[in-house]
Amino acid sequence: MPTYDYRCEACEHAVEYFQSMSEKPKKKCPKCGKSKLVRQLGTGAGILFKGSGFYQTDYRSDSYKKSASADKPASGSCGGDTKSCAANGGPCAN
Ligand SMILES: [Zn+2]
Repeated sequence: MPTYDYRCEACEHAVEYFQSMSEKPKKKCPKCGKSKLVRQLGTGAGILFKGSGFYQTDYRSDSYKKSASADKPASGSCGGDTKSCAANGGPCAN
């Protein structure tokens, strides 16, 4: 279960809560009793880990797609890059 960090805007009291993802964010400050609690984003270790993991997976598949499409013109034609084509002994070598 992720840990959420809260901070009270009224009294600056900081508090941590263990909450499930589906649970509503806490509002009431346990110290001053005002509904001024604000959830601090990016500080919950569980949330941060999930976010960066998702990003990395996304990035990996995206770069894979890019390199896959970049390979196509190299195997077929020079793709306009006559310099590297000649270096690889492609159709533009002469
Ligand atoms: Zn407070």
